[in-house]
Amino acid sequence: MLCKKCQRDKPQDQFGRPLGRTTRTGYDIYCKECRAAYAREKRAKTGNAYGKQYYQRTKNDPKKRAHRSAARARRRAALAAVPSEPIDIETLYVRDGGICQLCNTPVSRQDASIDHKVPISLGGPNLWSNVQLAHLTCNARKGNRV
Ligand SMILES: [Zn+2]
Ligand SMILES: [Zn+2]
Repeated sequence: MLCKKCQRDKPQDQFGRPLGRTTRTGYDIYCKECRAAYAREKRAKTGNAYGKQYYQRTKNDPKKRAHRSAARARRRAALAAVPSEPIDIETLYVRDGGICQLCNTPVSRQDASIDHKVPISLGGPNLWSNVQLAHLTCNARKGNRV
């Protein structure tokens, strides 16, 4: 059988089953070797797209979102060279009694965010002593003010 890609004549057992639609011969039009190379190439090209898809799928998941925001804070702290310790929003939520520390009203777990009393961008550390529970909206409104 002739491989459509490398144009070499190879025995039938060098060809797998076709992906998706069937072919005239019932075998893949690429030999296994070429098919593997093709898959590798495709993965390299679309690897990032998969990451983006994952982000799209999980961006509204509160748990994953909180995890991402904690990871972002750690990264910011590392860049700003300020002290940092792992902050987890679940513990913070319990510590602050589920009350937004900016507007003093209850906050649901979905709307909860980690607010840095002194923003990391202004040299505030990413430590338990410098974080408080806040609504996402209150946190966003506060921006970089102390
Ligand atoms: Zn081939
Ligand atoms: Zn609030």
